[in-house]
Amino acid sequence: MANADWHLQPVSALRQALDDGEIGAVALAEHFLARIAASELNAFIDVRPEQTLEQARAAQARLTAGERGPLLGLPLAHKDIFVTRDWRSTAGSRMLADYVSPYDATVVERLAGAGTVCLGKLNCDEFAMGSANENSHFGAVRNPWDPDRIPGGSSGGSAAAVAAGLAPLATATDTGGSVRQPAAMCGVTGIKPTYGRVSRYGMIAFASSLDQAGVIARDAHGCADALSAMAAFDPRDATSIERAPEDFAREFGLSVRGLRIGLPAEFFGEGLSAGVEAPVRAAIDVLREAGAELVEIHLPDTALAIPAYYVIAPAEASSNLSRFDGVRYGHRTETFEDLADFYARTRAEGFGAEVRRRIMIGTYVLSHGYYDAYYLQAQRLRRRIADGFSAAFEKVDVIAGPVSPVTAWPIGELTDDPVRNYLADIYTLPASLAGLPGLSMPAGFDAAGLPVGIQLIGRHFDEARLLAVADLFQGVTDWHRRTPEEAGGA
Ligand code: GLN
Repeated sequence: MANADWHLQPVSALRQALDDGEIGAVALAEHFLARIAASELNAFIDVRPEQTLEQARAAQARLTAGERGPLLGLPLAHKDIFVTRDWRSTAGSRMLADYVSPYDATVVERLAGAGTVCLGKLNCDEFAMGSANENSHFGAVRNPWDPDRIPGGSSGGSAAAVAAGLAPLATATDTGGSVRQPAAMCGVTGIKPTYGRVSRYGMIAFASSLDQAGVIARDAHGCADALSAMAAFDPRDATSIERAPEDFAREFGLSVRGLRIGLPAEFFGEGLSAGVEAPVRAAIDVLREAGAELVEIHLPDTALAIPAYYVIAPAEASSNLSRFDGVRYGHRTETFEDLADFYARTRAEGFGAEVRRRIMIGTYVLSHGYYDAYYLQAQRLRRRIADGFSAAFEKVDVIAGPVSPVTAWPIGELTDDPVRNYLADIYTLPASLAGLPGLSMPAGFDAAGLPVGIQLIGRHFDEARLLAVADLFQGVTDWHRRTPEEAGGA
């Protein structure tokens, strides 16, 4: 393997190279740091080489002492929504632009314990609100396949970094699609596990009943290794689920013969672009040829996921973000008249337009007199959507469909059109509302050469199955091996 190629390698190849001593953890970290320094994608918010190299030296000492572990010495980067002691924790917001946390998020702590080497913090939409990574105080992230286009969001930095070979692995979070959609738009693999699988402790809150940590890598194997380290019961998160640790790669190698894959008619209807539909249908055919049985199903309330989500998520956000008052955390206005003016100015200055919009919508739908009409109604829809999935999973084992109706759009195209932005979340929101695990993996390209992802949705706690189906698919296709570098992009 040519040394210059380390950044194109999947986690499994880097693992082997570290174990064989073909490359050291320090040299590997330096390789990625040099690529980050030269990158113009704006994928990173905070990079501190001295902290990274200190972690790399510690990991190398463990390797040299003969210790082995799936992630030992492996570089990775964290979405800047997980708090970290050694890097700033901004949530992509001016409100927290200089904030340094006194503790590490559980996800950060667990991955550090497994011996990963942190390369820095990844750009994201402010408080993870967005689908294009244009809502960051630190500026838009560029898509490595076409730098004039969005990388998807809100974990745009995570997906762009992995696609561009700035990190082999990146953490991300998904409230309504933010792991799956940017993974699809950047041609990488990402998984959002079942709600409650991974601790939310130290994950800056957006909509607590939906927020879930996930991971992005080149392939399903990398995702499985990282998720196995991330997922564990955490008494510090009241919604963390008590389950024994799992090896998420345990079903790799199992056949899909007889596996019933449901294709929801509502995921293939009006609004789905031809450039996305063709690769997704071709990918489904690959699974059929491998022995899976395709079953047409219905998720009749799919379209209602958009209004339900865009009431529930802002409602929870308006409550969660009330803690940013200029007194306890972050940005504080300099001139003010009285206390009310102090709050108003601090929050108007600290939050960007989309965050302010959601706080206002959220406050409105929770207010006395409107609560029943909006918030309660949205909760009823959420229940119906979840029931729809339960009925579907009586007939099928896995559901497959597109991730996003379109491929990456030009930066700036939808900035002034929040509703069109929201509509593009149609295929990812339903699984989020139902708390189900969802995976996105590369399925091909549209006519413009932009990546297309396919989504697999599973029953609660069926991540190992989704990852095994993805691994099988990646064993017979090479979409996940294509890189923008080879395609002539950034
Ligand atoms: N695009 C959705 C939103 O803007 C989802 C974001 C997310 O999953 N964090 O809310």
